[in-house]
Amino acid sequence: MLRICFHGRGGHGVKTASRIVSTAAFLAGFQCQDFPIYGAERRGAAVAAFTRISSDPILERGFIADPSIIILADETLLDDPAAGVLSGQENASVLFLNTASASVVSSHHRFLPQVVSFDVTGLTLQVLGKASALSAGLGAAASRLTGIVKEEHLVQAAAEEFSHLGIASDVLEKNIQICREVFRSLPEVPTLTKSLQTSAKVVPVTGEDVNRATPSVFNTGNADLRHTGSWRVERPVIDRNACTRCGMCFVVCPDGSIALDEHGYPVIDYDHCKGCMICRSVCPRHIITKERETLAW
Ligand code: SF4
Ligand code: SF4
Repeated sequence: MLRICFHGRGGHGVKTASRIVSTAAFLAGFQCQDFPIYGAERRGAAVAAFTRISSDPILERGFIADPSIIILADETLLDDPAAGVLSGQENASVLFLNTASASVVSSHHRFLPQVVSFDVTGLTLQVLGKASALSAGLGAAASRLTGIVKEEHLVQAAAEEFSHLGIASDVLEKNIQICREVFRSLPEVPTLTKSLQTSAKVVPVTGEDVNRATPSVFNTGNADLRHTGSWRVERPVIDRNACTRCGMCFVVCPDGSIALDEHGYPVIDYDHCKGCMICRSVCPRHIITKERETLAW
């Protein structure tokens, strides 16, 4: 059985990516299962999605602890122990990194499986004009790495999944373009296909006692220590010289990440600004620009 773990942030589209590869493998003649896991966090929080692919009936259920393929949508998650993105990497065959600089990332982290990378964010920005949803590129990367999905399966699967989301036809075409470019840019991992011939096994999923299954808060007042600035794909930049100090950005920031200095000018706390761009959309002077983030971590 092929087991794929997708790790990303809320809004990246890892759930849709897991569905795209699942549907593509189904169209290629395999049995498939996909599902996401996310809690009650907001956009930008760590989320995961999973896909199982097999030539036999799939009786396994629940979280995948021993992935064959790990798809990582955001390299900043490597610095978030709670996200556990490298969990199970010892037995994985390949790790896909969405990054513009795989060598920089590799120099800071120890990866056991083969690492394959592609700048999905850059391509998505270039084609769609925004990089908030990476599902096309991530789904294409996973599909290619399985070695069992052909490009026509991928395109048909992506068209079906995006149609269900009700997106406009021109946006759909752009996502298909992203799928094709990523698919053609990556290698297959041929050894993975051998693992499809294993027999199915039943894995019982037991419920935890309520005392263990509910979150516990051990310390209060420590939210400041969580640097949600690493969630950012784009950074808001204020042109102070053109600012009228109206304070609109300060008022609307949902994270309280904008303070006013002693002269009344807004100052962004980049440790906690998560890049939602609400401040940019309300600024009456249109003097808040956005730049692709490369330094948040
Ligand atoms: S982008 Fe603007 S509104 Fe959003 S969190 Fe950052 S400073 Fe606040
Ligand atoms: S909304 Fe724009 S003009 Fe108003 S304080 Fe913020 S940056 Fe300055």
